[in-house]
This record gives sequence, C-alpha cells and structure tokens, in this order.
Amino acid sequence: MHVLIVTDLEGVGGVLNYPDWCTPAGLRNEAGCRFLTEEVNAAVAGFFAAGATEVTVDDGHGSGGSIRGELLDGRAALQRGSRVPPDQDPCDVLAFVGQHAKAGTPNAHLAHTQTPEAVDFRINGVSLGDFGQIAYINYNDRNIPTIFAAGDLALTKEAKELVPGIFTTAVKEGFNRPLDMSCPAGEVMARQSAAVHYPRAQVLASIRKEAGLALQKYLSDPGSFAMKPLPGPYRAEAEYRATSPRLIPLVGDLPPRRITTGLHDTVDGAFREFYYYEWRKPDPEHHTLL
Ligand SMILES: [Zn+2]
Repeated sequence: MHVLIVTDLEGVGGVLNYPDWCTPAGLRNEAGCRFLTEEVNAAVAGFFAAGATEVTVDDGHGSGGSIRGELLDGRAALQRGSRVPPDQDPCDVLAFVGQHAKAGTPNAHLAHTQTPEAVDFRINGVSLGDFGQIAYINYNDRNIPTIFAAGDLALTKEAKELVPGIFTTAVKEGFNRPLDMSCPAGEVMARQSAAVHYPRAQVLASIRKEAGLALQKYLSDPGSFAMKPLPGPYRAEAEYRATSPRLIPLVGDLPPRRITTGLHDTVDGAFREFYYYEWRKPDPEHHTLL
C-alpha cells in the first residue's frame, strides 16, 4: 500500500504570506518549511499506523526544496526536483498536505491556480485548482483516488466538492474577498493574507487521525473515494491576467487573455497542452485577448 503525499506551502498552518514565507529567500521561509514538514510527518505517521507499507512525499511547492529532509519521518521517501507537477512515482492512493484553494475562492488564504495570473481554470467547464487538476489526472487517467487533504478551510470544502468521501483537516481559515480579473496579478497574494490559524497541536493531531482514518476506509471500501464524474474528451481553458512585474523578465509582458486547448483523450493531455501555451505569445488558435 503505497501512499503519495503531494505537498505545497501556501496551505500550511502558520504560513502568513507569500514573499516572506513561500520564497526561498524569504525571511520566514525556514519556519514555513518546518511547519510543512511537521504536517507531512503527522500524515506519514497516520498512514503507517493504518497499514501503509510505503509513503513517498512529493516536495511540490515551486520546483521543490521546501520539505526539510533532516526533520522528515525517516520511513518516508522524498521526491523532489523540477518537473511537470503530475509526473510521479507509481502509487495506490494520493493525499495532499499544505494545499491552497483555487483562484477566485472567497474566504480562502493565498488562493491561486498554479500562478497568480490565473483567474479561473476549467476542464470541460468544471472550475479546478491545483487540487482538482492533480486529483482528476490521477483518478480519471490512472485510476488512483485521492483519500486525504490538509489545507485551509476553503481548500477542504473544494476537495469535498470533487471527492465527496475524502477525509480532510483544515489548518486555518482565510478572511479575504474573492478576486476577479480586475485585481492585478502582482497583488493577488498580498490581498489574501488574512487568516486565523488553528491551534497547532490540534491541527497536527487531526492530520494524523484523519489520514489514518482515510487509509482504513480505503482498505475496506475503496469505492468511497470516487470523484464527481468528469467524462472526456477533455478541453482545458482559463482566463489569465496581464503578467505581473515579477514574471515579465521571465515570460514577457503578456496581455489579459483566455487560453484554450484542443480536445484530448486524457485529462493529463489537456493539462499539458494548456501549460505548454500558458506563457506563449498569443496566437489566434489558442488565445483570445480579453
Ligand atoms: Zn505553492
């Protein structure tokens, strides 16, 4: 029984904002990485206690480097390094720790979908964030269900919407207005830093308990983690804000636009085509200027 834990940093309890906590040079990055590793360890402990034989932790924020290897539970393997997010080790079930809600979610904390430029990402009209993208690629294309998710309260609601039987732990609750196209990309994270962070001991105990209950449930009733049906073929689409000043040197000064893919037999195919065109110069076949 191999569990893969997909991790991110924005949805970790105690993580306050993006520049100080979520960038490698940020003043509080070390504390954020430690908090993340504590939450991961709680999940690892819950999974092993419930019968996991193998746990792999995917160091998923940015291009990796957030999990503190020296603090990580010694039974867990660590998968890290630059890659396309859905690439991964074979596993039986998926879990999320430190996950944030999708772009545009009200009362979320540091909500975004891959990048602050994204306003709303959809596959076949269904709005998906990082959680939904990865969960559907694994469920629809690879028959791997998602059984547990920890993150802010809005993320746990988003997860239950897509996987009604999922087990969750909320680590904090955001108090922020949803942001639309009118918010510049460079202000998306700064406008979503208000949150109440739940008591730490309670959060870690809940992650351990709920992760264990999730795996026990999977072992007795794997069908209970079915996702909301999303039949193919698949087309991805999203609206993007103008490029933020931080990214302009890297990707160029791109205007507000809608990006649309062709039809694909797999969710992964649509996802990959979308992210291939994400930062390309607009062309009429894949982009509509807004
Ligand atoms: Zn992240």
